[in-house]
Amino acid sequence: RPIIDIDHLSKRYDSGTVALNDVSLQISEGEILALLGPNGAGKTTMISIICGLVVPSGGTVRVGGHDIRRDWRAARKLIGLVPQEIALEPFEKVIDCVRFTRGLYGAPPDEAYIEKLLRSLALWDKRDARTRELSGGMKRRVLIAKALSHRPKVLFLDEPTAGVDVTLRREMWQVVQELRNDGVTIILTTHYLEEAEDMADRIGVINRGELLLVKPKDELMGEFGKKH
Ligand code: ADP
Ligand code: ADP
Repeated sequence: RPIIDIDHLSKRYDSGTVALNDVSLQISEGEILALLGPNGAGKTTMISIICGLVVPSGGTVRVGGHDIRRDWRAARKLIGLVPQEIALEPFEKVIDCVRFTRGLYGAPPDEAYIEKLLRSLALWDKRDARTRELSGGMKRRVLIAKALSHRPKVLFLDEPTAGVDVTLRREMWQVVQELRNDGVTIILTTHYLEEAEDMADRIGVINRGELLLVKPKDELMGEFGKKH
């Protein structure tokens, strides 16, 4: 059974824009899926729906078997989202950010897990730093730590390397691979083919609200006539 089951999903905003048109997609536990498409394709809309931030116009989404519209409380426990924009409380300490987010999910305190999480993201030494003191790369890792604070099974990364330099991109890649080794399912959006190719097992190409194709990376790269 897929961890995420998207069935005939559509979204029409009040403005009239059709951001998603009849998208169906199954995502297996433990895989890394990249949603590849240009700006305005509908990528953010899709993950915003799965994460409960946008209400779909039609179709269903199941996370771990739970219909997000009927059984949201169960579904959200399984999901973590790293949003595109860096929005952190500037004067809050790193460790408090993570504790706070965990609390929002209704998860009981677990200091041992938070320590393990911060260590794995190389943030433990910065746990008492205020977020405004951190570098851009560290801030992104804090966002990941927040998204993982309640131990979700699925992590969404919306444009994880937008506006990021090569070093940070490499760092992000490493974090993603480590998370996968821990069994976390990862869905990321990008408008760079190279990034999708670098990070993902499977690539879904989305344009103008339509999921054009979903293929294992190797097959897709074969079609583009590329070989690395
Ligand atoms: P992206 O980088 O994913 O393309 P956008 O720049 O399109 O993001 O959108 C940034 C924010 O503005 C998002 O929160 C999105 O929901 C919102 N937004 C985008 N387009 C519109 C629109 N036409 N009307 C209202 N809000 C929009
Ligand atoms: P992407 O993430 O692939 O850039 P989005 O999901 O942000 O695409 O946007 C898909 C389409 O929906 C775009 O045309 C965008 O302008 C529009 N859109 C996004 N958010 C909103 C919103 N809140 N209100 C109205 N239109 C929106």
